[in-house]
Amino acid sequence: MAAAAAAAAADEAWCRETVPRVMELVSPRLPQRDACVLLSVSPWCHRALAANPKLWEVLDLHEMKKAGERLISALSLARYRHLKVVNLEFAQDIEDRHFLRLKETGAILLEELEFLNLNACQKISDTGIGAATSLCPNLRALSIYWIVGLTDASIEHVVKNCKQIIDLNMSGCKLYFLVAFYPTDWIYITCTQNISDRGIQLVADNYQGLQKLDITRCIKLTDDALQKVLEKCSALESLNMYALSSFTDKAYTKIGYLGNLTFLDLCGAQGSQNLTDDGLSSISRCGSLTYLNLSWCVRVTDVGVVAIAQGCRSLELLSLFGILGVTDACLEALSKSCSNSLTTLDVNGCTGIKIWFSYSSFLQMNCLIDEYPCSTEEEPGRADPTVPTIELLQGAQLETTAQHTGGAGGWTIELVAGADRPMGWAIALHGGAGDIPRTLPPERREPRLATLRRCLDLGAAALRAGRSALDVVELVVRELEDCPHFNAGKGSVLTSDGTVEMEASVMDGTDMRCGAVSGLSTVVNPISLARLVMDKTPHIYLAFDGAEAFARDQGVEIRDQSHFITEENIERLRNAKEANRVQIDYTQYNYTQPIQAPNDDDNSRTGTVGCVAVDASGGLASATSTGGLVNKMAGRVGDTPVIGAGTYANALCAVSTTGKGEDIIRHTVARDVVAVMEHRGLPLEEAAARVVAGVPRGSVGLVAVSAAGEVTMAYNTTGMFRACATEDGHSEVAIWPA
Ligand code: ASP
Repeated sequence: MAAAAAAAAADEAWCRETVPRVMELVSPRLPQRDACVLLSVSPWCHRALAANPKLWEVLDLHEMKKAGERLISALSLARYRHLKVVNLEFAQDIEDRHFLRLKETGAILLEELEFLNLNACQKISDTGIGAATSLCPNLRALSIYWIVGLTDASIEHVVKNCKQIIDLNMSGCKLYFLVAFYPTDWIYITCTQNISDRGIQLVADNYQGLQKLDITRCIKLTDDALQKVLEKCSALESLNMYALSSFTDKAYTKIGYLGNLTFLDLCGAQGSQNLTDDGLSSISRCGSLTYLNLSWCVRVTDVGVVAIAQGCRSLELLSLFGILGVTDACLEALSKSCSNSLTTLDVNGCTGIKIWFSYSSFLQMNCLIDEYPCSTEEEPGRADPTVPTIELLQGAQLETTAQHTGGAGGWTIELVAGADRPMGWAIALHGGAGDIPRTLPPERREPRLATLRRCLDLGAAALRAGRSALDVVELVVRELEDCPHFNAGKGSVLTSDGTVEMEASVMDGTDMRCGAVSGLSTVVNPISLARLVMDKTPHIYLAFDGAEAFARDQGVEIRDQSHFITEENIERLRNAKEANRVQIDYTQYNYTQPIQAPNDDDNSRTGTVGCVAVDASGGLASATSTGGLVNKMAGRVGDTPVIGAGTYANALCAVSTTGKGEDIIRHTVARDVVAVMEHRGLPLEEAAARVVAGVPRGSVGLVAVSAAGEVTMAYNTTGMFRACATEDGHSEVAIWPA
């Protein structure tokens, strides 16, 4: 009994003394949601946390369900009495009535509230804004981004209730998504704000100390009203005017008077910006500018950008995206004047920019534009051919747009043609990349080429018959797995223990589902098991015993190891062991020693397999399968089953890779091709070439197709067994460069 009492006393002492101290230490680092969970752990935790006022200065309900009810109950708690920030961004179930209820109770006045974020709370109307702002008279920042129903009446409430505003975000937004019925087109849903000149005039009259203003997509505003704001709110440090087409130089010239301006976004989205060199020359008076986005300001030329270079010597970021009228001349001016500050310069789509700069001039400029190893050939204008060069991004296709305008409540719908899709289906496959000598004997070459040709025909026929890209890549890779000439399925190479450990993955670009397996020793077609993981489990990746058990569960064809262990592969392993090397496909690969020169009549040449396809309706898929590396450690997993490295597909493009798995994983090769297309707007071939060039020489090959029906087969090894065909009749089977 005494012992129990002593333990209880110690427990209590621990709770009383230690818990508050621990809570004091950890609470500054806790996200508020975690702190709320901890409250219920014990009365001691509760007491310790509730007593820490810093923790309750923020009420974070963003994206939460039943946010209105939660807000009301939170505000009834004493610990929230000193709230500074309320975040309701994208919160659900928050409506006018919640703020009205708070107002009616009369008890709650958020006197210390500085920032109220109501972004995308679509059920709030002007009435709700009125009630909400009446609760917080000392608000300094208000964000009402993308609330479709708001009008000037909201601004009236704001200026009446909150006299201290210095940061106002009233922008509309733009959503875009791929439409199912025509998968290569993007629907852009643009939500503009209804706030008009009257609203902005109120802002100008009441908030002369305004520091940040975002009027993105407030398309009802006119030049006159903007001029007034710019004249009156001369303390502005940040001005966001993205996607506004109605303003002219009359208003833009006034921006030049904003002496404190550091951030200016004038992106003309879809090429509708009226800003000309005159307006830009005035803006060049803003000597403190560090961020300037001129994307799609299509009337601008070198004259305006040179003025900016000379006037804004602290620029850190400049985007000239999509401006056709700028040339090398403006870059020279920037390199002279802004070399100490500029870190990012976007000249994507600036087809007037032609020259190659020497690396040294950019080092001097300290400017990362876009960097990748270039060829060793001399380029015109390259100052020093011995130093690597940086190529300016250029020549990206501008989007063509068609617009349907209409809809109520300020919604505008634009249909923007993405990649045109005149080209129909396409397919590409590989049978491994490596240091394949041109002297590879015909008896080793021909059976593989014949298999590639047969599989290509099979895939093309299936696409012609209307099969989906996903079915086709699985079908083709199964066929390649069944062929003992390739390093996958039946031809899989052996581990240092003399066993097979096969791996494979598949990805469906239409919905980004994917499946992967590794460590298989009995499954005849690993690619189909990967597809079953994708289709039949909630997971993406199964390995070793679990994957084998799943295979048995699913009743897929299995064989004992002797089916896979071919004489050729035993010989390959013996050779690799004698030479003490781990070997990739066609190349001898040694982790510890330099790569040895390939031996022409080496009997060890075999290759991983992969297939990518785009079907007639633009659906994309990728599949890859391998036995890995000859003499690899048991348990080693390569790139092939790693989504993003060996295999990747989305709505834009599908990629399958081969080569040194470790390098491919490090460089996330498959995903990178897609990312370069997505983020740089480059065509497939250029994107793939660029990614391959960034991986160590001799280590990667890939096949890829895009939704537009483009095909590319890129490698930085001496060769790659590869084949492709497109609907327009092009077909190719090859090993080395043409
Ligand atoms: N990438 C494979 C691996 O490293 C080998 C290959 O592509 O040949 O496992």
